[in-house]
Amino acid sequence: MEFKRRTHTCGELREKNIGERVVLNGWVDNRRDLGGVIFIDLRDRYGITQVVFEPAFNIEAHELAKKLRSEYVISVKGVVRHRPEDTENPSLPTGMIDVKVDKLVILNEAETPPFQIKDEIDVNEDLRLKYRYLDLRRPRMQKNLLLRHKVYQIVRKYFDENDFVEIETPMLMKSTPEGARDFLVPSRLHKGKFYALPQSPQTYKQILMVSGYDRYFQITKCFRDEDLRADRQPEFTQIDVEMSFVDVEDIFEIVEGLMKKLFGEIWGTELQTPLPRLSFDEAMEKYGSDKPDLRFDLEMVTLNDLFVNSGFRVFTDTLAKGGIITGLLAKGCGNYTRNQLDVLTDFVKKLGAGGLIWMRVKEDGLEAPVAKFFNDEEKKSLIEKMGAEAGDLIFIISGPRLKALSIMGALRLEMARRLELIKEDAPPKLLWVTDFPLLEWDEETKRYYAMHHPFTSPRLEDVDLLESDPGKVRARAYDLVLNGNEIAGGSIRIHNADLQAKMFKALGISEEEAQEKFGFLMNAFKYGAPPHGGIAFGFDRLVMLFAGENSIRDVMAFPKTTSGLSLMDNSPSEVSEEQLKELHIKVTGH
Ligand code: ASP
Repeated sequence: MEFKRRTHTCGELREKNIGERVVLNGWVDNRRDLGGVIFIDLRDRYGITQVVFEPAFNIEAHELAKKLRSEYVISVKGVVRHRPEDTENPSLPTGMIDVKVDKLVILNEAETPPFQIKDEIDVNEDLRLKYRYLDLRRPRMQKNLLLRHKVYQIVRKYFDENDFVEIETPMLMKSTPEGARDFLVPSRLHKGKFYALPQSPQTYKQILMVSGYDRYFQITKCFRDEDLRADRQPEFTQIDVEMSFVDVEDIFEIVEGLMKKLFGEIWGTELQTPLPRLSFDEAMEKYGSDKPDLRFDLEMVTLNDLFVNSGFRVFTDTLAKGGIITGLLAKGCGNYTRNQLDVLTDFVKKLGAGGLIWMRVKEDGLEAPVAKFFNDEEKKSLIEKMGAEAGDLIFIISGPRLKALSIMGALRLEMARRLELIKEDAPPKLLWVTDFPLLEWDEETKRYYAMHHPFTSPRLEDVDLLESDPGKVRARAYDLVLNGNEIAGGSIRIHNADLQAKMFKALGISEEEAQEKFGFLMNAFKYGAPPHGGIAFGFDRLVMLFAGENSIRDVMAFPKTTSGLSLMDNSPSEVSEEQLKELHIKVTGH
C-alpha cells in the first residue's frame, strides 16, 4: 500500500482539530487491545497521539492493527475526535483528543527492541550504546539532543551578534601542545609522516589573531588520547574563542554575556554579573579544589598559625617542610561511630593522605586519640578558629600544600554528599577561578610543565620570577566553574618572542625543540602579533549541566565507552592488510 504523507506530527493535534481528517506517521509506542478496540500510542519526536481502531470505523484497518507491535512504523488516516468522557489524559498535550482510524499502512515492521523505548529503563549502558539508535528514541535522550541543538544556536547567535567570525580550522594538523597524547593519522602520500588530530585549535586561533580576524569562535571537535577517566571522551566538542587587543576583563565580559543568555534562555533565570572570582590559592585553601562547588558552604580552614609551636611532631614537621595543616568542620557529626570514622580515614588514605585526624567536640573540650598532644591553648584556639560547638566533629589533614588541600577538598565533597548539603533545587553557582600558577613541577621527570599550555602569559609583575623562582609565577589564566565543574578555561597569551623564549626556557624546551615544534607559530609572531587571549568551553559538559544529567555521554549522540570503544559500530577495529600497506604500516606483536 502506498505511503501516506503526514498532515500533522504526533505532538500537534488539539481540540481545535476535532472533526478534521488527518494523516499521522510514527512509531508504535504502546498498544492496548481491548478485544473490540485497539488503542495505539503513536510516537514521533514531537509527541504522542492516541489512535483508535474499531471494526465500526473500518474493519480492514482494525484487522490489520492486530498485527501491530512495539516500534512498528505506521501511517494512519482518520478523523480527530474528542476522547470519550473520562478518558482524557491531561498530562499529554494531545490528551483531549484521539484519532478514529479508517486506514492503516504498515510502513515497516520492527523486531522486539532489547529494551523499552521509555525514560525509566533498567539496563546497563553498554546495551544502550550498542543499540544507540533505539536509545536515542527515548524521550529523555531526544530532549537532551534538542537541548544541545538549542545551545549551539544560542552560542552561534550570541557570538555573531558580538562581531565574532566563525572559522573552521583543520582536523589534520601538526601535533598541538595541550599536554595530552595525540591521535595520529598516518600519511599515505608522505611515507613515515603523520598528522595529528587537534587536541584543540589553539595554535590556529592564535594565528588567526595574527591575521587580523580580531574575534574568532568555532564549535569544534577536539581529540585527546588519554587513559579515559569516568566522564571523559576521546573526542569532545569545544566552543573555542579568541580575541585581540584584550585583557582578562574583556574576555570575562564576553563570556559572562554568553552565560547570562544561556541561563536566561535555558533555565529562565537571571544570572547576576559580574561573576564572583576566586584566586587559585583561595579556592584551594577554602574548598580544596580549583573547581570548587559553592552550592554549599563547608569551608576548609588553614590552621598553620595555630600549631607553629605545637608539641605534635606531625604538624611541626609539616610546617618545617613548608606544608599545610587544614581543617574541616562537620557540623553535628560528633556522634560518628569509630566505624564511620575508619571508613572516612580509608577514603582519604586511598587518595594518598598519611591519615585523618578527627576530634569530637564536647562541652568540656576535645575528645580524640591525638588530643593529648595539644595543650589547652591550642585546643581552645582550634575550637574557636573552626567555629566548632559541642556535638561537632573536626577533621584535620596535614602534608604538602596542594596534596593535603586536594584531599581535604575531596573529603569536603564526600561530607557534603553524606550530609546531603547539596539540595536538589539549590541555585546554580558560577564563578571564575583566576591566578593559576603558570608552571607545575613534576617530581617524576624533574621539570616544570605549563599548567595551561606554553603560550599562556605570566602575570607581568611575575616575569622576573621565571628565572629565579618559576614555581611562584602566576599565570594570566582563568577557569569558569559551574557547580563544581570546570566548564571553560583560557588565558591571555604571550605575543612577544622574548617572553616566549623565556617561557620555553623555564619549561626546559631547547631553542631547537621550540623551533621544531612551534616554529610556525613563532614565525607568525614575528610579523606583528596583536596582544590576544581566549578561552574554550567544554561544550558537552556545559550541555550536560544545563540538561541536569550526570554523564556527558547522555548529551552526545554517539559517545564511546570509558575505554574508548564504540559499541555500535565496533570501532576501533582491524583494517585490511591492503590498507596498512598503503599507509606503510606494519602491525607487530599481535
Ligand atoms: N586551548 C585551550 C584548551 O583547550 C583553551 C584556551 O586556552 O583557549 O584548554
